[in-house]
Amino acid sequence: MFFQIIETSSAGNCAYLECGGARVLIDAGVGIRKIESYMRSLSLSLDDLDGIFVTHEHSDHCKALKSFKNARQVKVFANRLTAESIQYLEPDTKKLKWQVFENGSPFDFCGIKVTAFSIPHDTSDAVGYKFGFEGRNLVWMTDLGKLTHLARDMARQAHILVLESNYCPKMLENSNRPYSLKQRIKSPHGHLSNLDALELLKSLDPSVVEKIYLAHISKECNSVSRISELLCDAGGICSHIEIVPPFSVCSTPLEF
Ligand SMILES: [Zn+2]
Ligand SMILES: [Zn+2]
Repeated sequence: MFFQIIETSSAGNCAYLECGGARVLIDAGVGIRKIESYMRSLSLSLDDLDGIFVTHEHSDHCKALKSFKNARQVKVFANRLTAESIQYLEPDTKKLKWQVFENGSPFDFCGIKVTAFSIPHDTSDAVGYKFGFEGRNLVWMTDLGKLTHLARDMARQAHILVLESNYCPKMLENSNRPYSLKQRIKSPHGHLSNLDALELLKSLDPSVVEKIYLAHISKECNSVSRISELLCDAGGICSHIEIVPPFSVCSTPLEF
């Protein structure tokens, strides 16, 4: 299994996972050229992708999807409401090879056991994902307004966890963002704060989770140094954590 986040922030999200011969993206919320140049860096092309797993219809998660409309083999996975929303917002995406799933019903894709689970976010039907392969799980969980029992349960099953740590409450409050947007971000259907993420991290077992990426960090309302300060409080899990900066940078690659 090979995994790397190509980019993650409030401005764009996309990750690459290679597993059991399948090459997939998790979200496609960056420019297609960026995805293309990333694939080239692995000596691959866009045609080598087998699937794209979409979490929800916000553009920072699906802006490159339309560029796959003529792709020969890329299947695009989403639940029905998300697929319909994306097709409504961007009619060109009707030509994609959609594979519609139901939340909570695991399915197999090229040997990967995929489970999409509901998360609370202000879109039609946002999901996180658990990708299981040879007894190990990668769990992707960004864009959720609060930590539900289901989200906590999924995090506990993760050997590799991608977790949102979107905003610092003080920086959000002091930002120039309109009042309505601040309320949206803080709402139970918005995003996780650093404190929310920290609370979850402290509840995880360091002997189970091997690597945690803190992701979907806001450029304006958060900072890597602010998160680092908080992590001093995270205990034994701290050495497993990588903060992915909210700029156009990849995470460190992971082979497992
Ligand atoms: Zn997002
Ligand atoms: Zn979103």
